[in-house]
Amino acid sequence: MSSTRDEEDRAFLPPLVGHEGVMAEQLEAIHAGRVHHALCLTGPWGVGKALAARHLGRAFLCPDRTQQGACGACRSCRRVVLESHPDWQELRPSGGSVRGSISVDQVREMTERVWLKPGEGQGRVVLIEEAHLLGEVGQNALLKTLEEPPPSTLFLLVTPRAAELLPTVLSRCQILRFSPLSGEEVRRILQDKGSWRGEDLDQAVEFSEGSPGAALAFLEGQGRFLRERVRELLATPSGEWDPVGMVQELLASQAASPAEEGLTLTQVKRRRALLLVQLLQQEGARRFRASLLEGQPGGPYDPSLAGGMEKWLDRCFQAEQNILWNLDPVLALEILLMDLARP
Ligand SMILES: [Zn+2]
Repeated sequence: MSSTRDEEDRAFLPPLVGHEGVMAEQLEAIHAGRVHHALCLTGPWGVGKALAARHLGRAFLCPDRTQQGACGACRSCRRVVLESHPDWQELRPSGGSVRGSISVDQVREMTERVWLKPGEGQGRVVLIEEAHLLGEVGQNALLKTLEEPPPSTLFLLVTPRAAELLPTVLSRCQILRFSPLSGEEVRRILQDKGSWRGEDLDQAVEFSEGSPGAALAFLEGQGRFLRERVRELLATPSGEWDPVGMVQELLASQAASPAEEGLTLTQVKRRRALLLVQLLQQEGARRFRASLLEGQPGGPYDPSLAGGMEKWLDRCFQAEQNILWNLDPVLALEILLMDLARP
């Protein structure tokens, strides 16, 4: 394979599945030159918000765009995908620390650069993934630029936690809400991405609740194995739980699967921890429903100990938020299991 062909392959942006309505509206606005200067893409984790933002940003910079979006073939489009576009800026949590955040220095550097003349002439795109990690100081630094934006610049803020953004920042953005996908859409994405079939695929689609990201985490992170362990746990009286030991055991089988190669150990742990929280949430809810239908507690683990279903789901939700907020995933899980074991 020649190097040119290599480059073309790498310049491929996967198509976005679902979200047709919101994308059609925005692509049309971009084509007509009347897109809002700041878009906040929000919705559940793993439904394609970041990919959608890349499609929108690429269309914004593409000189040959149509109402359907970017041409995908021009120099600008290729450079966006190859991450070498001079007018594309991306803010990500700085690596290293467990509790990563987007520093105010990163924001300041970006807000200075957006005033430079675009290198390719079409405009500029600033993509901020996990925008809730900006923190208050960072958001205030960004706010000034959102209030008096440079010409031809599109800000794309992506977050599953829009409520964490300051109202002043949100009020400068057009909010785009992304919903869970249908089971069929999730299945289609998984079939395109890998060779999963049969029971693996069915279980992942069922688990996903409309989030292809969650389904992938299930398939790539030993989801079936972890689900069995969670079921065993829930069948054990909560007085016998050993949260620290259990978390160690469940997160210890950390040898990254082939799909997880290239991720740091912290990233793998974070993915597994999110998977475990979601499994606890689903399996817990299943037990509550069963005990309601049968009119008796569903086995040796009495869910009423945790204060009822609402509290159970609340605690799982809180743990998920803690992990998304970059709390150490091991600690977040230990806290969750201790909370769930308590009346
Ligand atoms: Zn193009």
